[in-house]
Amino acid sequence: MRVYISVDLEGIACVATTKDAWSDGNNYELARRLMTGEANAAIQGAFDGGATEVVVADSHGPMDNLIPEDLHEDAWIIRGQNRAACMMEGVESGDFGAVMLVGYHAMAGTWGGGLAHSFSGDVAQMRLNGIAVGEMGFNTAYAGHFGAPLALVAGDDRLAAEVEALAPWAERVIVKHGINRIASRNLAPKKARALIQARAKVAVERAARGEMKPLRLESPVRLEVAFQTPQHADRAAVVPGAERLDGTTLVYTGADMVEINRAWMAMMRLS
Ligand SMILES: [Zn+2]
Repeated sequence: MRVYISVDLEGIACVATTKDAWSDGNNYELARRLMTGEANAAIQGAFDGGATEVVVADSHGPMDNLIPEDLHEDAWIIRGQNRAACMMEGVESGDFGAVMLVGYHAMAGTWGGGLAHSFSGDVAQMRLNGIAVGEMGFNTAYAGHFGAPLALVAGDDRLAAEVEALAPWAERVIVKHGINRIASRNLAPKKARALIQARAKVAVERAARGEMKPLRLESPVRLEVAFQTPQHADRAAVVPGAERLDGTTLVYTGADMVEINRAWMAMMRLS
């Protein structure tokens, strides 16, 4: 089975502040090492569970965070920017039996969600067919379109609650508990990695037994995005087909998640 792993940074154990997570912050080098450690744990767990190939997408900010020479030598690494499918680049091949989202965080506006946001700081709320989603939800629906099921998510307790609501079959690894936006109670990195590796093995084994299902949204798919300010919406509103609902909200209706993803990438990059 091929396994796809998308790795973000804000949901990694012991990444708590913007100083940790932003690439110009003084703790960024530490955060990169922690991120690489959790990515390696997920990769090893996937192979332990029977994966034949593992593809990892570096999916935070500059998309070049993972430290190449420290990475598990048996995985492929997708690195670099301007990707059409952003955090899920490559999942379109349609032959991934399990998707893992590691280091992920809760959606924008989540109370107590560590460094919570949705794709950019410009978004207040996103909905797909009326369901509030953040990066986890959007990416799960995108992968689901190609038949790839969400099998594991690692991040904080607020993110785990999102997963419970949207994809209750998926393994959830809670590596920290939110205290506020820039404070959390964390597992030590070694403990977090051990848990991720163990649950990743179980996730792949369960996926092989058919216990994980692709999240497929009903067509047409309606994306609603409330931006933080009218100025963000002004910039994104030029996307062909985007409708303005009010000062800050745009709506786009597409046949499927492929169309929605394109529209959203255009809105996000313009906003
Ligand atoms: Zn993110």
